[in-house]
Amino acid sequence: LTGDEENLDPIDKDLDRALRPISFDDFSGQDKILENLKVFVKAAKLRSEALDHVLLHGPPGLGKTTLSHIVANELGASLKITSGPVLDKPSDLAGLLTSLETNDVLFIDEIHRLNPIVEEYLYSAMEDYKIDIMLDSGPNARSVQIGLNPFTLVGATTRSGLLTSPLRARFGINARLEYYDAELLSKILKRSAYILNTPIDDEGAYEIARRSRGTPRIANNLLRRTRDFAQVKGNGKITVEIAEIALTALEVDQDGLDEMDNRILLTIVEKFKGGPVGLSTIATAVGEEAETIEEVYEPFLIKEGFLKRTARGREATEKAYIHLNIVPKYRLG
Ligand code: ADP
Repeated sequence: LTGDEENLDPIDKDLDRALRPISFDDFSGQDKILENLKVFVKAAKLRSEALDHVLLHGPPGLGKTTLSHIVANELGASLKITSGPVLDKPSDLAGLLTSLETNDVLFIDEIHRLNPIVEEYLYSAMEDYKIDIMLDSGPNARSVQIGLNPFTLVGATTRSGLLTSPLRARFGINARLEYYDAELLSKILKRSAYILNTPIDDEGAYEIARRSRGTPRIANNLLRRTRDFAQVKGNGKITVEIAEIALTALEVDQDGLDEMDNRILLTIVEKFKGGPVGLSTIATAVGEEAETIEEVYEPFLIKEGFLKRTARGREATEKAYIHLNIVPKYRLG
């Protein structure tokens, strides 16, 4: 459920695209960020300049890619999309940068995973709109400088702590996306249901919203699946009863935790006496990448108060024991 767009099947991918907001007005939440971006975009347009480089950070599915589309649209510019791991060689980056028209937007997802050599090249591109390219190799090798059109780099990362300071310093605009509350997600879900031509009532929308881990991508995924249940098990309308049936079938529990969230908590409680236990030990025990646990699962579990991060590792909280319906005997005894 927390999967990226790339992992969606083709039909879901089309639906995902249809649901993506394309203007500032379509985008709900993240008010502070949106207000600021509106001002910066307007000012850049008034001066006919490229918008300053933008760094967006926060857990997956909160709207970083969506915002980069919106910024490009609102600027009246084109958007090119790539990601840190894909930009393997400096020539990959050079190819992209030289293809940008004046004031276009380049979106680099997972920018904390850029190859350090490629990252070096990005510095002068961001700063002076110039890039040095090596021609030939061996004794004939020489470097030529190429001027670029002014452009805006939008970088997205789930792990801003992993960004090098020279790279971070080159972003003029830095925004951290927050999890959405259930009211906002309800609003997003109603808009999505409308686009999908699926009737939904307030209670049905709220039930999905409050169990979507504060994340629009998950809310939309759950909506698509709930819509299937509404059609097969109901009369097509999403009500709270249908939402309940669907979410239970999808193993999303009453607190909105999914199967992996629960597995992580249960593992810490049952195998490691509630912790503290190291991240990599948890990862091995639950069979998931440490990085995924840290970027996707943990931030939400911590925010909701099920998990604590201490100097000695991760600890399950009292709330986790209550959630799992387990008496914390190790702690009491
Ligand atoms: P990220 O890049 O942060 O992983 P995305 O921008 O890909 O997240 O967002 C995932 C999906 O969630 C998008 O396809 C979009 O439909 C939806 N979405 C995200 N933020 C919002 C929002 N504020 N309002 C409406 N839909 C949103």
